Amino acid sequence: MIQVLNLYKTYRAGDVDVHALQGANLEVSKGEFVSVVGASGSGKSTLFNILGALTPPTSGIVRIDGKDLKDLSNADRAKLRKDTVGFVFQKYNLLPTLNAEDNIRIVQFIANGRMQFSSEFQEILNILGIADRMKHKPRALSGGQQQRVAIARALVNRPAILLADEPTGNLDSQNSTAVLKLLADLNQQFGQTILMITHDQVAASFARRSIHMRDGQIL
Ligand code: ADP
Ligand code: MG
Repeated sequence: MIQVLNLYKTYRAGDVDVHALQGANLEVSKGEFVSVVGASGSGKSTLFNILGALTPPTSGIVRIDGKDLKDLSNADRAKLRKDTVGFVFQKYNLLPTLNAEDNIRIVQFIANGRMQFSSEFQEILNILGIADRMKHKPRALSGGQQQRVAIARALVNRPAILLADEPTGNLDSQNSTAVLKLLADLNQQFGQTILMITHDQVAASFARRSIHMRDGQIL
């Protein structure tokens, strides 16, 4: 499902080069739930941004579903971001003026022009415990509920891969456990492939495999 070979990413910050990835290698199979742990600055988010085609690598190969990302046209890359990869950000990134339902629908509409939730997706909303919160705007939702709406939004287009960048980073321990259980359920019940960044060992233990990053490499 995911193949990363000898990946490098160098950012130019003013007149200094920041070597965020320095020869990272990774393979993830369909249906895996992998946690990615490592100190702040070790390159975790950079790796995810490259996997999600949000930013290009400096060198190295990334294959998603057998396709080399650098062979994709701009249209293919946009399609990958809409259809193949679902992103959950630490800070939710919900649109404040839209209610929960419309935050999800807008993503669905952009991808395929649809506005209706499938029965399977309704079930996901039930599992997430937010089916009865769909008419609420983000400010009327708790942090945990907002994070679960963000997870639902990442799943609405049935992505092959869910990338979650510190999805419990802003949650208290109760909400954190709830979100982690849900990710584990999605993985077990729907075979959802999940990569989750965390710097919390308890969170990492919900995944079935854990990889460690240090200085831009996967150990
Ligand atoms: P992590 O998610 O593990 O904390 P990041 O991938 O965010 O690590 O960052 C890795 C390194 O790259 C850090 O030194 C960070 O400061 C740097 N970095 C990340 N994004 C940028 C950027 N857009 N421009 C310049 N440097 C960046
Ligand atoms: Mg990060």
